[in-house]
Amino acid sequence: MSTTETFRNYINGEWVDGDTFENRNPANTDDLVGLHVKGSAADVEAAAKAAEAAFGAWSTLPGPARGNYLFKVADILDRKFESIAADMTREEGKTLPEAKGEVRRSINIFRYFAGEGSRMNGIQVPSERDRVHMFAIRKPVGVVGLITPWNFPSAIPAWKLAPALICGNTIIMKPASVAPLSALRLIEACHEAGIPKGVVNFIAGSGSQVGDPLVDAKPLKAVSFTGSCEVGHQLHARASARRLRIQLEMGGKNPTIVLADADFQSAVDNVVNAAFFSTGQKCTATSRVIVEDAIYDRYLAALVEATKKLTVGDGMKPGIHIGPCIDEKQLNTNLKYIEIGHRENGEPKIGGNRLKGPDYDKGFFVEPTIFADVDPSSTLAQEEVFGPVLAVTRASNFDHAMEIANSIPLGLSSSIQTTNLSRAFDFIYRAEAGLLTVNLPSAGVEYQLPFGGTKDSSFGPKEQGPAALEFYSDYKTIYLKY
Ligand code: NAP
Repeated sequence: MSTTETFRNYINGEWVDGDTFENRNPANTDDLVGLHVKGSAADVEAAAKAAEAAFGAWSTLPGPARGNYLFKVADILDRKFESIAADMTREEGKTLPEAKGEVRRSINIFRYFAGEGSRMNGIQVPSERDRVHMFAIRKPVGVVGLITPWNFPSAIPAWKLAPALICGNTIIMKPASVAPLSALRLIEACHEAGIPKGVVNFIAGSGSQVGDPLVDAKPLKAVSFTGSCEVGHQLHARASARRLRIQLEMGGKNPTIVLADADFQSAVDNVVNAAFFSTGQKCTATSRVIVEDAIYDRYLAALVEATKKLTVGDGMKPGIHIGPCIDEKQLNTNLKYIEIGHRENGEPKIGGNRLKGPDYDKGFFVEPTIFADVDPSSTLAQEEVFGPVLAVTRASNFDHAMEIANSIPLGLSSSIQTTNLSRAFDFIYRAEAGLLTVNLPSAGVEYQLPFGGTKDSSFGPKEQGPAALEFYSDYKTIYLKY
């Protein structure tokens, strides 16, 4: 008989017990992935104290030495690559190849930021004055809170944790309650790598029981949050009231523009990939496709045909393209927007239902769904669904398509499919989004460049790449007469 594993929180280098909550497989809720200890305000206080106490020694350790710890973390994750990916598919539902891609990305993120330990430079410029040397060095911010969502349950925690640590900060992480295990695997690797006690702390539990006390914790100097606009905006108000350094990455309603001159098949493949893979649960997923009138009917027909070929099911099985929604709440959100889409636009061209049958009844599966001729001002075209529900809109020409693409309050990612170089550059300069792709899916970013949105999607410095250092470190400026 197999016993269910209980995963504990990690505070001051110790594994800490408590009451638990369940982590179930969204493809089959009979499968209990594990029990996680439910953190409390007292746990947050203990972690904050530990992180504050550990800050002095960690922040003064030479950067390359901190980097060596991060290289070790990457090696440990690499050794456990297969099992970490399988756990991710079980807890989050994405297909096993997608989970492997994500774990590989987390490993690469640790190696990338480990290298920063030896590179991290400040600023040095000539003074106007004689025999004055002036320069600015980077210093860590202090104790940082990291609050993460469920859709990239390893990569997002990794792209906050690795730069925070390499800059010399100490951290407290709160993962999403529906997928805490993948984030915990990073913390276990930090423990195994010998990162000193108190530097890394991890507390699973709800937003109200762990998230709020974390944002209120006295020693906290900064908070990095990724998640919904709703929670992000509340957190912003709370964190800015006490003048924390804040970084928020939130929702998207990302457009892909398809022009008549696009490479037709690649424009179909890119949109199917960006709209439906990972069950449409990528923050950079395409949820609106804006198609130039001249090819609209042919493109829509091809999109529907390509979508018919997608298989939905348990992501552990080979040949599955689309896994389940993360939970019942997200499934119901999808169904609600499908109903709205139906009311606003009539029958979907494909999909529109919860999947039923022996392979689906114990999970949260929905058909990939396409609505056509969607009015750009309608609810379906304006609000984030965060599921495999695509709105197709007709545009008379490029300028009209740009106007539609920019007509929403969010601005995370935006894509264009065109072979016209001049249109591509027009798009690059005019698109109101932080992440742009040309002739690629709107989703599928790497870690070496800044990541983040604009407008209501984001607040504060960007994540990833060299830009990450701007949030996790500050400058100390020195004028020296010699
Ligand atoms: P969410 O509901 O906002 O949750 C995000 C995190 O915030 C979770 O850890 C959640 O904890 C926590 N939280 C909830 N209430 C809190 C509070 N009062 N104080 C502090 N923390 C609190 O978002 P989600 O459903 O996990 O993720 C989906 C959303 O994330 C989508 O909108 C998507 O677009 C966005 N997203 C954005 C990006 C980006 O880079 N822009 C990337 C990925 C996802 P619990 O899990 O315990 O509720």
